[in-house]
Amino acid sequence: MNGRIKVIDLTQPIFNEMACWPGQLKNRIWTYNTHEETGRQYKMSFQTTAMLLNDHNGTHVDAPNHRDPKGKSIDQIPLERFYTEAICVDAREVKPDEYVTVEYVKAYLERTGLTIRRGDTFLLCTGHYEKYTNARMEYVLEPFTGLDGRTAEWLADQGISGFGTDAPAPDGWKSIAKGEFPADVTFNAKRGILVFENLCNLVKLVGKRFKFIAPPLKIVGCTGSPVRAMAILEE
Ligand SMILES: [Zn+2]
Repeated sequence: MNGRIKVIDLTQPIFNEMACWPGQLKNRIWTYNTHEETGRQYKMSFQTTAMLLNDHNGTHVDAPNHRDPKGKSIDQIPLERFYTEAICVDAREVKPDEYVTVEYVKAYLERTGLTIRRGDTFLLCTGHYEKYTNARMEYVLEPFTGLDGRTAEWLADQGISGFGTDAPAPDGWKSIAKGEFPADVTFNAKRGILVFENLCNLVKLVGKRFKFIAPPLKIVGCTGSPVRAMAILEE
């Protein structure tokens, strides 16, 4: 078994002071029960950790109710949606002040022989995480590469189940600078497509087809959830 598959971790580390969208809750993680204090109370000591987490920090998935007030929450999405086939398109040559367009994606697919199949998760490698990491606020503040709204509509028309990126959002920086998120709104609020944000290590997957696994926590009513995202490559 181990000789035939390779697991690539696509998850950014979670820690205090990790990057977070301005105005949103920063994660806070601290030791709650310590070995020292429980050791005085019980025959055997134990330690626990407390966490205050934003459901949209770090590597996570957006539930439909993130942008659609009537949309489903994360606990209502079938687990099949988090276990799909996937392909990864390399967009590192597209600058943050340009968009990844339908034409770019079509040319890339043509060049690599990849195809989009219904039910796929479509991953976009922008190289943004490798450039900044989430240890510094530059990760969310510096321009990153993404889609225009027309390309999001086209991807939705191809029947994808999910879209993932190694940047903080699916949209191109020019849209975000205007306070507009046409790709995110198309996927999340209009077309029922799951959006996975803040992935990493996508550079290891460019031009490939593989299995994508990224199940959320079953938090009732939540607008998203941290995920442990991974790719399974068969060798
Ligand atoms: Zn989100």
